[in-house]
Amino acid sequence: MPEIKDNIASIKSKLPERVRLVIVTKNHSVDEIKLVYGTGHRVYGENRVQELIEKLPLLPGDIEWHFIGHLQTNKVRYIAPFAKLIHSVDSLKLLKEINKEALKNSRVIPCLLQFYIATEETKFGLSLQEARDILESPDYPSLKNISICGVMGMASLSEDKDLVRSEFRHLKSIFDQLKREYFENKEDFRDISMGMSGDWPIAVEEGATLIRIGTAIFS
Ligand SMILES: *Cc1c(COP(=O)(O)O)cnc(C)c1O
Repeated sequence: MPEIKDNIASIKSKLPERVRLVIVTKNHSVDEIKLVYGTGHRVYGENRVQELIEKLPLLPGDIEWHFIGHLQTNKVRYIAPFAKLIHSVDSLKLLKEINKEALKNSRVIPCLLQFYIATEETKFGLSLQEARDILESPDYPSLKNISICGVMGMASLSEDKDLVRSEFRHLKSIFDQLKREYFENKEDFRDISMGMSGDWPIAVEEGATLIRIGTAIFS
């Protein structure tokens, strides 16, 4: 536990004011999370719906839960009552489903568009053109119960720092283009979720506003 506390303090001390830390609790027990909660941190992320809804009732109600993993439309209803931010929107179909479930819960759910920025084949995410297609679709303006607040991406799992940096820079440029083209006057279109345990310092240098860290905190 002293280690976890030190890990959090060390990371937070290196973050500029604009960057918020999302502590990723996947694969960690409720007891471990309670210890971290005891340090005062309130923003947590999970990447699997099942794991999240099992932990939810066993943890304090003032936690801000971010959903960061690939989300299937048939699972949206489980997290719609409480999700503070969904980082991983990668289709219009998913966005419509989130809107529908948010409406049922009388909420507006903040969402990020997830982009495919890595050179690896396995990652999820949109291309810039696919994002434009969503934002220009005739259905989009009627989605009153979602609010697109920015972008998310995962860099390649690589030791090549220049590669990782160029992928983060690409995501920042996508953010800037979307901001200019679609969200110029939307103040809460402001988040860039990028950076994990192995690459967050680079992500912060390249403009991240949210970093998602698990391993570097729990080990
Ligand atoms: C697991 C996960 C993280 C955190 O990864 P670590 O390397 O443990 O910091 C961040 N984002 C997503 C989408 C994840 O699934």
